[in-house]
Amino acid sequence: MKDYSVNFISVVVPVYNEEGCLQELIDRTLAALDGIGKKFEFILVDDGSRDTSPDIMRSASEKRPGEVISCILNRNYGQHSAIMAGFSLCRGDLVITLDADLQNPPEEIPNLVKAAEQGNDVVGTCRQNRQDTLFRRMASKVVNKVAQKATGVQMHDYGCMLRAYRLHVVKAMLQCNERSTFIPVLGNSFARNTIEIPVKHAERAVGDSKYSLWKLVNLQFNLLTCMTTAPLRILTWFGLLASGCGFLLSLYIIIRRFFIEGGDKWAGEGVFTLFAVMFVFTGIQMIGIGMIGEYVGRIYTDVRNRPRYFIEEIVGRKDEE
Ligand code: UDP
Ligand code: MG
Repeated sequence: MKDYSVNFISVVVPVYNEEGCLQELIDRTLAALDGIGKKFEFILVDDGSRDTSPDIMRSASEKRPGEVISCILNRNYGQHSAIMAGFSLCRGDLVITLDADLQNPPEEIPNLVKAAEQGNDVVGTCRQNRQDTLFRRMASKVVNKVAQKATGVQMHDYGCMLRAYRLHVVKAMLQCNERSTFIPVLGNSFARNTIEIPVKHAERAVGDSKYSLWKLVNLQFNLLTCMTTAPLRILTWFGLLASGCGFLLSLYIIIRRFFIEGGDKWAGEGVFTLFAVMFVFTGIQMIGIGMIGEYVGRIYTDVRNRPRYFIEEIVGRKDEE
């Protein structure tokens, strides 16, 4: 029997301008981790904050060296890259990710550890009574369905970042060099056993969501394109269907023109119908070009092969470890 017990827990939290709730997050998370009574490290990754978040992190690290580790990136790389930076520092055999805004209660950490100890490589969570706008919830529903299809793993809530991964899953994720990635989906693709547990969800305590609509759309495209090229295939079918219809239509027009009386008049007056048809096709082409652009854009960033992040400073890690 494989030993699934957890002896060392790493918690990774990306922080971007969260000075309003960071101290509470640190206190509550440390209390939860102390309560479990296992060895732990609490890794805070500052994703280029412009407020006092890095200072709060530094002083927390100084208070509990070796336990609270602050990793400060030089600029804003985005939530998922920041988590990856945190992953690169992890040494625990179970790695838990969490948002800094206290929407995911740190008090759930013991439940995640318990679920992992039952023999799971990835513990997902499903937000009960989710406290987000209707628009966000609807968008999530669609995205989750696509992700379920792409990964073949039936999880209901890929958007919830309160998750636990075994170290080997994290190591596998670190080997993925692409920049446009979505960690919960990527993690599932390296897991043998997964489980999903219900967790509480709170409203954002302080500040606003760090995701603008544009960043959110980009994130959804990352989720879609990080696992599958299916949209490109859909496009092929769509294109085939469209050109098939176009062919039938032109056949009909020719028949009317030559064999049916008054056909030339009809064809002449049908100019605007043709325009309409043309617009439909132009639209389809544009969708196609846009979709290809989504992939090409990502290929471009990957081909450049820039480092995904650059750690400027690490506070609170003991050298001899
Ligand atoms: N975050 C980050 N970099 C960013 C955007 C967000 O590190 O560019 C962090 C943020 O500090 C928070 C988490 O990612 O800990 C989730 O962000 P937020 O709560 O704003 O997202 P939402 O809950 O609206 O999806
Ligand atoms: Mg949030």
